[in-house]
Amino acid sequence: MAEPRKNFVGIQIGLVSFLDEGVNQVLDILQEKARVNALLPSTMSWSRGNAGRGLDWFPDHGKAEPDHLQGGAMVNIHPQYYGATTIKEFRAPDPLYQGVDYLEMVLPEAKRRGIKVYPYYCETAGREIRHVWVPNFIHVVEVDAWGRKAVRPCVNNADYRNWHVAILEDCFKSYDLDGYVWGVERRGPLLNILDGDVPTCFCPTCRQQAHERGIDAERARQGYQEIHDFAMRVRGGAAPLDGYLVEFLRLLFRHPEVVAWEKFWVDSHVALAQEIYGAVKWLNPKKEVGVHIWQLINTFNPLLRAQYPIESFGNCADFFKPVVYHDVAGFRFSRIVAGCTRTILGDFTPQEADRFLQRILHLNEAEWDDLPAAGFTADYIRRETARTVDATGGRVAVYPGINVGVQGTPKSSKQITPESVGAAVRASYEGGATGITISRNYSEAMLNCVAAVGQALDELGIKDTVPEGLRTEPVRGAASASGKAGADDRVAW
Ligand SMILES: [Zn+2]
Repeated sequence: MAEPRKNFVGIQIGLVSFLDEGVNQVLDILQEKARVNALLPSTMSWSRGNAGRGLDWFPDHGKAEPDHLQGGAMVNIHPQYYGATTIKEFRAPDPLYQGVDYLEMVLPEAKRRGIKVYPYYCETAGREIRHVWVPNFIHVVEVDAWGRKAVRPCVNNADYRNWHVAILEDCFKSYDLDGYVWGVERRGPLLNILDGDVPTCFCPTCRQQAHERGIDAERARQGYQEIHDFAMRVRGGAAPLDGYLVEFLRLLFRHPEVVAWEKFWVDSHVALAQEIYGAVKWLNPKKEVGVHIWQLINTFNPLLRAQYPIESFGNCADFFKPVVYHDVAGFRFSRIVAGCTRTILGDFTPQEADRFLQRILHLNEAEWDDLPAAGFTADYIRRETARTVDATGGRVAVYPGINVGVQGTPKSSKQITPESVGAAVRASYEGGATGITISRNYSEAMLNCVAAVGQALDELGIKDTVPEGLRTEPVRGAASASGKAGADDRVAW
């Protein structure tokens, strides 16, 4: 395993910020205001949340105009590494990024300043991201339960997996990097169905692999179709005779192949992360691999939390970046609660569903009516960080992703302030973190919020190493992180 740095202050940042503001100016700001010692550049992204400027709101730096991101790779593609995949041309077509190689532009100066560089790629759940302009991508997309091409790439498709491995070979052989961060923002077919999507993936490869596991793909397909019909009916306003949750569970019991298929999907997804980890280590064992953990998985959704225990990614990460955006969490969680009351929690009012979900998720946040405006407390960050640290038994470093600038919430949502950013930094270290990741993107953050990171780090006395004794108290019910070997024997890492 690579030795993670003693204190990690990373920031997610898109190429657009360096183009708008200049490499030296941006790095000056990041080092002086926020003590940044690691960049997580989105060297490839189709998502504005990772790479672009805002749509209709802009911070006090950078250009204040939309960039209409199309997305793709923002570095040169070296074709000798792409022999095992048909996906070979994925350079971002945006005029803004023509003739520019993100890493060539930023790496030398970052290195000179002692800033580590970890390209960050996040597999997003959004249906709007279709990679349509990428030649041959159509052959790697999932097939739904009716045999139709769907939208997202199939995690078992060899071409798709080889593409990611090829990108890693290109990255690590073409540039002097410190590691790579793999983002996880996808979920299996069952949760997609409940959100109004179609069940996937029933491509020939997935059907064959399921068959090898002893899963009857045809029965799984029929089960998903019935649950999809149920979800569509109740989302359309129909009230099930025996209740929403009861009828949903009845369908699951009637089609146990669906549960088996869910595990197959999650295992396949984790296997992709493991392949990526192994590929990086094959290329150079000294390079670090980080895994970004979606807030829907770690905090908001009990089904996803059940499907992905923290240790799922424990043997394919040197560090975790759990997303703990606390200010925007009130608004985001309220949306999820409302969504649940349209399907399996249809017998609940939103107020009741909020209490129920907060209780089973061990949250202790504001009441329904106040939730968006209140956000989550900084203590949520401390508890979630401690839960992650305890689950890893100290074997994986934890650098929580804290909200310093995140667009996409309405004015009625709790706003991110320098005070709330400072509280997030303190709570992360109190929870046992040995670093933080400034999120979601530099291009979304006000400079006083960026500066609040550095102020909090200075107040805590955190420089290159994390002082002992910052953690305040263990989390109720969690194993002790101080027990070292033996404290977490239940986890087979
Ligand atoms: Zn498939």
